Amino acid sequence: MVDERYGFKVGSFDCLAVSDGTFTYPSPSPFLFANAPKERLEQVLRAHKIQLEKWEEWTSPYICLLIDTDEHLVLVDTGAGGLGPNTGKLLQNLKAEGIAIGDIDTIILTHGHPDHVGGNTDSEGKSAFPHARFVMWKDEWDFWTGEPDLSGLKADEHIKELLVTFARNNLLPIRGQIDLVEDETEIVPGIRAIPAPGHTPGHMALAISSRGQRLLVISDSVIHPIHMEHPDWYAAVDLDPDQVVDTRRQLLNRAAVEKALVLAFHFPFPGLGRVVQKGESWQWRPIETMG
Ligand SMILES: [Zn+2]
Repeated sequence: MVDERYGFKVGSFDCLAVSDGTFTYPSPSPFLFANAPKERLEQVLRAHKIQLEKWEEWTSPYICLLIDTDEHLVLVDTGAGGLGPNTGKLLQNLKAEGIAIGDIDTIILTHGHPDHVGGNTDSEGKSAFPHARFVMWKDEWDFWTGEPDLSGLKADEHIKELLVTFARNNLLPIRGQIDLVEDETEIVPGIRAIPAPGHTPGHMALAISSRGQRLLVISDSVIHPIHMEHPDWYAAVDLDPDQVVDTRRQLLNRAAVEKALVLAFHFPFPGLGRVVQKGESWQWRPIETMG
């Protein structure tokens, strides 16, 4: 199905944007745009054909990425597992593409939020990929497996508790398989980890390149296309707003300058497009897909 699996090439790498399903968030504003002035937000939403008063929910796909470099079979993020009624479809979508799950040798976790690590474990709470090497930024691992301070989040206590419990339940069972990175580094040839903190302390972006073609995986440094036009508007789930804005500007600038293909985890499926600089901000140009 076009809205669940989308294959594309980056140089010689075979890539697959693969959905883990969707999740519906109530009250998208102020969730997505926590600090946006109301009148300005109304104007911007209207330009996107959304009426603020009627905008009661926002449905986001959760878009994971599979990369076959020929040498390695790499999965970026594992989706949300059983977080919601329409999540946890990653494995069935991979199988439908003929992917043998046991052949995935490297799993990169961009950060520790439930929608990115929820598929790490199976229904018994054990590693769902017992033979794979997992990779995460060290600050991110230390944060969630330690005593995470979520006081900066504009979220209810029960949401904060859910974030911590979910992260622990999906990180501790893979502790024997985890490889932690502390500096910008090549995880496997052609796939580079770049620090992108702010959304969470060790949030990671990826620069993927093969034969001169580039893909920039920005994960949750930009959650909605409107964040490109208004890079200073942060979401309620962004732990360090100032850092998010800095990181976002750096990544968007890089994407525009390099004319890289970009993958954004929460954008309309397949989450692929290009970023165009427009004055002090940017605009999203989704790729054209068939159907
Ligand atoms: Zn996310």
